[in-house]
Amino acid sequence: MTRCDVAIIGAGPYGLSAAAHLRTIKGLDVRTFGEPMCFWQRNMPVGMLLRSGWAASHIADPNQSLTLDAFRAASGKMFSSPVLLDRFVEYGSWYQSRAVPDLDQRKIVRVEEHAKRFRLILEKGETIIARRVVVAAGISSFAWRPPEFAGLPNSLASHTSEPREFRNFAGKQVLVIGSGQSALESAALLHESGAQVEIVARARQIHWLGGLVSRTIHSSLGPTISKLLYAPTDVGPAGICQIVARPDLVRRFPRPMQDWFRKRSIRPAGARWLVARLQNVPMSLGRSIVSAAPAGERIRVKLDNGTDRTVDHVFLGTGYRVDVSKYDFFAPELAQSISCFQGYPRLREGFETSVPNLHILGAPAVWSFGALMQFVVGTHYAGRALRRCITGKATSDRVMVREPLIAELG
Ligand SMILES: Cc1cc2nc3c(=O)[nH]c(=O)nc-3n(C[C@H](O)[C@H](O)[C@H](O)COP(=O)(O)OP(=O)(O)OC[C@H]3O[C@@H](n4cnc5c(N)ncnc54)[C@H](O)[C@@H]3O)c2cc1C
Repeated sequence: MTRCDVAIIGAGPYGLSAAAHLRTIKGLDVRTFGEPMCFWQRNMPVGMLLRSGWAASHIADPNQSLTLDAFRAASGKMFSSPVLLDRFVEYGSWYQSRAVPDLDQRKIVRVEEHAKRFRLILEKGETIIARRVVVAAGISSFAWRPPEFAGLPNSLASHTSEPREFRNFAGKQVLVIGSGQSALESAALLHESGAQVEIVARARQIHWLGGLVSRTIHSSLGPTISKLLYAPTDVGPAGICQIVARPDLVRRFPRPMQDWFRKRSIRPAGARWLVARLQNVPMSLGRSIVSAAPAGERIRVKLDNGTDRTVDHVFLGTGYRVDVSKYDFFAPELAQSISCFQGYPRLREGFETSVPNLHILGAPAVWSFGALMQFVVGTHYAGRALRRCITGKATSDRVMVREPLIAELG
């Protein structure tokens, strides 16, 4: 049995960044688990481009030395924004090799409370006892499959997060459900791979990021006004973007305002550079799915306007619904002890759950810290807030004063 001060579960941007920040605390024994960048490698559309801009795609490290710029210089690879998925995965692996070289790639299969500590069980049975656990396990457990598609085999209807080779759909008829980035980008890639694609979405129109309002602000009001309305974090519309960039500020607003900021900042939307790529892809907007059933080797989908489509495959770009009880490594008693609202944990300063010394980072933190936490750029706040919480607790219980993220981004 091994003992450590902090066990971090996850080696995506949040887990790696948390590890990089906590390793700067002298004498703290930190162990990090998980396959590096595996969600990006396996569960995102092959050939995808990052939706977040260059400044919002650095994984935070305490010295700001492991940026995308530093990786580009070190690797000698020429690339810029929008960043190709493969380059970002390489960047994450490079970051890991420098910041967390002793990463343990094994999976954690169980976390339970044990004598005021946590007992973690690894996939081959080894046990770790940790004083504190930081969960940065991402969103793959939360992929949302609408009930109309329950029970249908993955060969007929699959979530966009499931690994698929789009080239295998050349010449096939496919439906893509949804109007967010995953749905729209999958549709573009399928179309470019030679599939006959149609997009079906409940939304009456597609929201394009960097749309008319932001382009007008940028072009007619000039860079100074533009900077006042948009933070480099690049999450949220004009004005709200500046608030969302400061999670400590978001937390001071009344709950209904926080919810409104969140909804305005992470509603389904597509990157502007997808417009041209989807020019020849038909879209049925303002439509819902009524039913879906196998039709021989194919699948028949009925829409709420009485029409139907029989296609070879349906891609569900239906997003993710956070519910931390779906993290299968939590022992049931531990999962029940985490105070939640609609699946989101209620988090205190330092991302601590209602279970002392258990922290949750990334998308599950959106309800408590705002929309920034759904994106890589949120690591700039999360790493520092976690570090402050832990060092603060080591010395005293006083509440730390936080400088705004904007200052942190420099
Ligand atoms: C299609 C798509 C496109 C996106 N594009 C962008 C973008 O352009 N920019 C952006 O900022 N965000 C983007 N996002 C959001 C992105 O997913 C998050 O920003 C990012 O992945 C959050 O990092 P994370 O570390 O929380 O989770 P992840 O990157 O998912 O990492 C989770 C880690 O946890 C590990 N893990 C899970 N369970 C266990 C276990 N039991 N034991 C050990 N390890 C475990 C996994 O191995 C993995 O290493 C996109 C999301 C999708 C779906």
